[in-house]
Amino acid sequence: MVETRLEKERQKRQQQQVQSMKAMKRVGGVALIVLVLGVGGWLGWWMWTAGGSVPERADLASEEDGAAAHPGDSSNALSPPVPSGDSAATASSPKAAPRGASATAGSGGAAAGVTGAASGTAGSSASAVVVSPGATGTATTGASAPQAASPANESKVRLSFVGDVLLASTVETVMKRNGFDYPYREVLPLLQQPDMTIANFESPVTTRGTPQQKDYVYRTSPNALPPFKEAGFDLVTLANNHTLDYGEPGLLDTMSNLDKAGILRVGAGHNADEAFKPVIVNKNGIKIAFLGFSRVVPDNSWKAGSKTPGLADTYAEKRPLDEIRKAKAQADLVVVMVHWGIERNDKPEAYQTTLGHHYIDAGADLVIGSHPHVLQGLESYKGKWIAYSLGNFIFTTNNVSQTLETVVLDAACSKQGQCDLRVHPIFTEYAKPIPMDEEKGKKLLERLTSISFHSTVQMDGSVKPANR
Ligand SMILES: [Zn+2]
Repeated sequence: MVETRLEKERQKRQQQQVQSMKAMKRVGGVALIVLVLGVGGWLGWWMWTAGGSVPERADLASEEDGAAAHPGDSSNALSPPVPSGDSAATASSPKAAPRGASATAGSGGAAAGVTGAASGTAGSSASAVVVSPGATGTATTGASAPQAASPANESKVRLSFVGDVLLASTVETVMKRNGFDYPYREVLPLLQQPDMTIANFESPVTTRGTPQQKDYVYRTSPNALPPFKEAGFDLVTLANNHTLDYGEPGLLDTMSNLDKAGILRVGAGHNADEAFKPVIVNKNGIKIAFLGFSRVVPDNSWKAGSKTPGLADTYAEKRPLDEIRKAKAQADLVVVMVHWGIERNDKPEAYQTTLGHHYIDAGADLVIGSHPHVLQGLESYKGKWIAYSLGNFIFTTNNVSQTLETVVLDAACSKQGQCDLRVHPIFTEYAKPIPMDEEKGKKLLERLTSISFHSTVQMDGSVKPANR
């Protein structure tokens, strides 16, 4: 650590390479060290240094200065009513670097993919499919050696999922007081170590629009996105009952703000084709298709039309199932993010089970649910998995204790679509998810088994299919 800092004073470029290697070691991405070294030259160096200084994980977790820097950075992008391309680059480029080893290559790729998407969205829905050059993409730009040097476990992709994320309302109040990175500080390794980290993003990101007539209306500041990206989030679903809380202008801003921040998105679009289409990401030689659908849509006008922006809904099954089949033909792994169920009810509705099974029958490998604000069970079905609801990850706090219990769900998936699941018990309150201590964690794992189907959660968090 001290040596690195001295190095930094002597020669900035060399320091950044050392920092990069440190970050990668910390994440255990030995293969990607080889990858970066293998790619060598200016390309690898550029990927790491394009955003300027690369904050260390420890800094992110502990330095108030680091937190204070975020709003400043992003307000550059915010100050013009419609951020220019240049300011967008300023806002998104630093986010390409800080992600941990294996994800960093992907983050850079994702940012590049989204830049292309942003320009593509203006005229067409082509942006909905983003093939992000992850490890393999980098290899193609550089040399083929890094891929060959991948260790055996690179044949899996490590995905992590969290439940509802709300960065508005009282959560925003807490972030304004403590820094926009405040919610992530206790859970950074869980968010940064996977190849990809995915959330249900439960509010528009905009400063415009008109609040809709409904019980709860949320709006997130664009300032919140860079720290969210930096914390490790790569992809969100917008298919939920809040994305249009500030109408169509709010949705359009949300999509462009996410694109500029380098965060992939599914479940909404400028038209139905874009909303329903998968985002396809290439990681570790595995093609993963992500789709997002909502079974909770407050008003029919929220549904995307053939020429109008909106959500991908799943009240009718045909379109979602067709899209899953098409995605399966293009990708190794199909992940469906779905918003469904009854709030504060830890039992799935019958329609959730039916729909989840139909998704899997159509080709989904993983079905990840959200909306109830509490955990619902896991189900093993035909060798695939449904997580009915992951609960609140970051949300407003109420006095219903089960809304404070959540998990980070890890899925290590093979190219053949076999996923090994593991859950990390988390207590979340006042915008602060924190890993549970062992005793509380075990209680939650036991409860999770009690509400799960054809599966059991072991005390180490691994999830096993049970005999039917
Ligand atoms: Zn919801």
